[in-house]
Amino acid sequence: MKKNILIVPGDGIGQEVTAVGKKVLDKIAAKYGHEFVYDEALIGHAAIEATGNPLPDESLEKMKKSDAVLFGAVGHPKYDNDPSAKVRPEQGLLKMRKELGLYANLRPIKLFDELLSASSIKPEILKGADILFFRELTGDIYFGEKGRKDNGDTAYDIAQYSRYEVERIARKAFEAARTRGKKLCSVDKANVIETSRLWREVVQQVAKEYPDVQVEHQFVDATAMLLIKDPKRFDVVVTANLFGDILTDEASQIAGSMGMLASASIGDGTGVYEPIHGSAHDITGKGIANPMASVLSAALLLDISFGLKKESEDVINAVDQVLKAGFRTGDIADSTTPKEKILGTDAIGLEILSRI
Ligand code: NAD
Repeated sequence: MKKNILIVPGDGIGQEVTAVGKKVLDKIAAKYGHEFVYDEALIGHAAIEATGNPLPDESLEKMKKSDAVLFGAVGHPKYDNDPSAKVRPEQGLLKMRKELGLYANLRPIKLFDELLSASSIKPEILKGADILFFRELTGDIYFGEKGRKDNGDTAYDIAQYSRYEVERIARKAFEAARTRGKKLCSVDKANVIETSRLWREVVQQVAKEYPDVQVEHQFVDATAMLLIKDPKRFDVVVTANLFGDILTDEASQIAGSMGMLASASIGDGTGVYEPIHGSAHDITGKGIANPMASVLSAALLLDISFGLKKESEDVINAVDQVLKAGFRTGDIADSTTPKEKILGTDAIGLEILSRI
């Protein structure tokens, strides 16, 4: 199979972990006789420094032309501490999602057994948890009108959803539920918020097309509690952009660390595959970032964009084997991990590569 893959490392540890993700794709191509042709593009702070624009047109064109994008992260402390900055790295990310029509963000939350003790949740509560989140990505409060009034003393962000936006992500989630445990939990705040009332109405309608899938509707506050209390009760979860942003970070604790969680952003064109973590400037340049989320994002890319299931499983299995052999990066190590088993980004990358 011949495919064009665009590598978009972005900022901070995005650069470090994406390099490992790319090596994994290379190894898979060599092992299975595929030809992956790579190009690179700028986004975020790196793009602002080079061009003044967080997502230059050239990057966007390259994204649209490629078969899949492996993305790192955007962000820089300079902007985090300056809320008034007009040009910001995240604008590049939001524009990429909007322009590529990436309306569904898939986040598989599955704990590798070896990491049961790395989570702050009790192992007996966690063991066997396997959740697939569908977070809506191009609507909600993130993209509505926003601004200030009353001399800047009042601020507003308008949350908005249209029927078709809810319908298309609900369908994707129902389809996925069919191939898994046939259970779907739709999360909203329909007791208070109007967009949530539309969300629930549409999900109830779409549900009629999937009588084999068991549907429940949960309020977001209850879901936040249930995720920690009983994560095993969930199979597929579908929710709006803001709720999904928060719930998936919470759920990252089920997987032990942000450094373990991959995601796929898909629509009707090019898919973007990325770790859920950010640019982590507290550890940038130290060579200690966990590259597994990027590696597992590469596995999702192989599976979802290219339909290469066997190759994807090979990658996931290699990560599993590395964990079984006792190797850890600092973020997933605990007091029982021997010092010599705690590896940096590149060294753990080599352990993964050698098991593919
Ligand atoms: P973060 O995800 O970058 O880091 C949170 C914590 O987790 C940090 O302590 C970090 O060291 C740790 N961590 C994250 N990924 C890790 C990995 N792979 N290995 C080991 N430890 C890891 O979130 P933050 O600190 O809130 O934000 C930092 C910057 O990233 C900000 O500028 C923010 O805007 C940006 N951000 C970008 C994205 C994205 O590009 N998708 C997502 C979230 C945050």
